[in-house]
Amino acid sequence: MEAEIITLAARVKQIKPSPTLAVNAKAKALKAAGADILNFSVGEPDFDTPPHVCEAGKKAIDEGFTRYTAVPGIPELREAISQRLAQDKGWSYTPEQIQVCCGGKHGLYNMAQALFGPGDEVLIPTPYWVSYPPIVLLAGATPVEVPLSEENGFDLSEELLSRYATPKTKAIILNSPSNPTGAVFSAKALEAVAKLALANKWLIISDDIYDTIVYGDGTLPHILDVDKRLAAQTLVLNGVSKSFAMTGWRIGYTAGPKHIIAAMNKIQSQSTSNPTSISQKAALAAVSGPQDFPIMMRDAFVPRLDFIMGALADIPGVTCVRPKGAFYVFPNISAYLGRSFNGKVMANSVDLADYLLDEALLATVPGAAFGADNFIRFSFATAMGTIEEGMRRLAEALGKLS
Ligand code: PMP
Ligand code: GLU
Repeated sequence: MEAEIITLAARVKQIKPSPTLAVNAKAKALKAAGADILNFSVGEPDFDTPPHVCEAGKKAIDEGFTRYTAVPGIPELREAISQRLAQDKGWSYTPEQIQVCCGGKHGLYNMAQALFGPGDEVLIPTPYWVSYPPIVLLAGATPVEVPLSEENGFDLSEELLSRYATPKTKAIILNSPSNPTGAVFSAKALEAVAKLALANKWLIISDDIYDTIVYGDGTLPHILDVDKRLAAQTLVLNGVSKSFAMTGWRIGYTAGPKHIIAAMNKIQSQSTSNPTSISQKAALAAVSGPQDFPIMMRDAFVPRLDFIMGALADIPGVTCVRPKGAFYVFPNISAYLGRSFNGKVMANSVDLADYLLDEALLATVPGAAFGADNFIRFSFATAMGTIEEGMRRLAEALGKLS
């Protein structure tokens, strides 16, 4: 064993590595070693990046577009994002109000570093995406979980928000459609957020990374559409990772008030400098080119979602709110907690996810990673055949618990 002579910073001890990426790495390693693992863990589209986007990346290399770029991203990409936000959403952002960064996660990191510090509280509707609390903690601020309930379809309410807000509340993170629940916040919930945010000068962070994946009639209420005044205290976060199957290219963006984007640019200039030049050219092709790819992907997810909901409904004791967007199901498996297999008790969602991996070769993410221990998450951004066999194995494995 190597001696650990050098001590680590206190901040790194506050957080754990991303559990979604950790389960994915474990599943991939087991698969590489020959195990018949079905991977429902990480959330990334199972589609390839569209060819015209790849071509733009290749062209950037061939043309020598391989040097530093402007810190907030190349002007033509920020212009294209500005136009897309105007065309698709009717929002008005100048290129100076947009920062391009190294993935959506990095956008959140930049904003937290620019805005939060000790004493600040950030409201996080829970179940939450795994990286929100650590990103808040790394900025020295305090994440405050606002527990949403399955019975209310994981929606927010004024009553709930008022219960967890304090004079120290600085911001709230909204993620609609949500990872991990697939829930979409109702217009009424957003009106409540708007009312409290305006009255108390909260910052609203709207993580819109799944906004192209909405089911049913496609209704997706947005906080900026509730009250135009909120543009002065809202940051909109998005990127091409999910919409254009570009998770590895690492391009995200944030739109918001100029002084906040300028502060985030300062952070970026002293950390990553700029997002990768080649990826920016590829993202430009995605944002400014045809928009049929995200629609094709969304349509491909529908039969998978239908199948998975049907299969879950057939498993005794499991309940699941039907997702309105994104590509995750978040079934409640609490009926199986406390049961055991070969003397090993499933005390929590981590035990159950471990059991499913060991016994059924199913990689899932335990609800505990999202602050909700009665659940487990399945990503259905995977082939229909995998889903069919996965649901069969799930039913069988849960049936073995007594
Ligand atoms: N927000 C949410 C809710 C996510 O699920 C993800 C996926 N990783 C991100 C942000 C960040 O996406 P990325 O950094 O891959 O662009
Ligand atoms: N957002 C994806 C997920 O939840 C990617 C993994 C990550 O960035 O943590 O699985």
